Amino acid sequence: METEQVKCLIIGSGPAGYTAAIYAGRANLSPVLYAGLQPGGQLTTTTEVENFPGYPAGIGGPELMEDLRKQAERFGADIRYGVATAADFGSSPYKVTMDDGKVVEAKTVIIATGAAAKYLGLDDEKKYAGMGVSACATCDGFFYRNRVVAVVGGGDTACEEASYLAGLASKVYLIVRKPYLRASKVMQQRVFGNPKIEVLFEHNAVGLYGENGVEGVHLVKRLGEADEQRYDLPVDGFFLAIGHKPNSDIFKPWLETDEVGYILTEPGTPRTRIPGIFAAGDVADPHYRQAITAAASGCMAAIEAERYLLG
Ligand code: NDP
Repeated sequence: METEQVKCLIIGSGPAGYTAAIYAGRANLSPVLYAGLQPGGQLTTTTEVENFPGYPAGIGGPELMEDLRKQAERFGADIRYGVATAADFGSSPYKVTMDDGKVVEAKTVIIATGAAAKYLGLDDEKKYAGMGVSACATCDGFFYRNRVVAVVGGGDTACEEASYLAGLASKVYLIVRKPYLRASKVMQQRVFGNPKIEVLFEHNAVGLYGENGVEGVHLVKRLGEADEQRYDLPVDGFFLAIGHKPNSDIFKPWLETDEVGYILTEPGTPRTRIPGIFAAGDVADPHYRQAITAAASGCMAAIEAERYLLG
């Protein structure tokens, strides 16, 4: 079994991971970063990022991540493709096994594995995976030009995805379980102001149908306290935008998490309960989940790693 010793291992390549790599590289920690399943992280599935400071005209998500990667490489970060599959934080150096079988022994570990899109849990979501079901409008929206799609969710992600899809599709239904949207006002205005988007409040998707792909969704509409109406809505695409699950499973035997799986850190810091192990970005942040807050916590984690190594 191949092993390798490193001072600072960073797992994940979103804004938290790359920012940690920039800081750790500049601090001479020779960081090794494993990019994970989705190199560049969730922002690579976004179109415009309008709220990252420093870009008055906005910047494309993939472009921003590419710039962060280059900036990390400029300071010597060793960026690799690969996914962490197991962790042993029982004693230092901490061991993390990668999907190629290699074991990286690290004095410090920065966990920046982010979060992944949630699904409703319907069997039909699996049945029609890649055949009309998607959790990423910017990845798959292209296939639905001039067609009819549904988006599930009432938060900022759902509104953003619906607005994006409205630029391609002929019609977008937004399926919202509550009688209101949770999204920010500006996102709501975009949705309500778009003639192609129809919001279906108090609706739940309970199944999908279709011969060789999604042809429609089975809906349940709430009608007051005890009544409901069931009906089928023809759609060609079914997009999930109902939030995310932190990618923390392999660390759970060693670190404390909340009930959803977010890694618990000392308040206001990326320190976990194990000295030398830090958690940054969405994997430890149920509250803000922004690129800029992830980047900030990646910075903090690298500074903490440097201080820890100095003893
Ligand atoms: P949120 O948790 O904010 O919203 C999830 C939405 O999905 C809610 O409307 C929720 O309904 C609904 N939902 C959850 N589970 C189900 C279910 N089983 N069935 C039906 N509906 C369900 O997640 P988002 O991904 O939208 O946003 C996460 C964070 O990222 C937020 O802080 C958001 O502000 C931020 N964000 C910001 C953006 C921007 O500023 N450009 C873009 C995207 C995200 P309910 O309300 O009933 O719980």
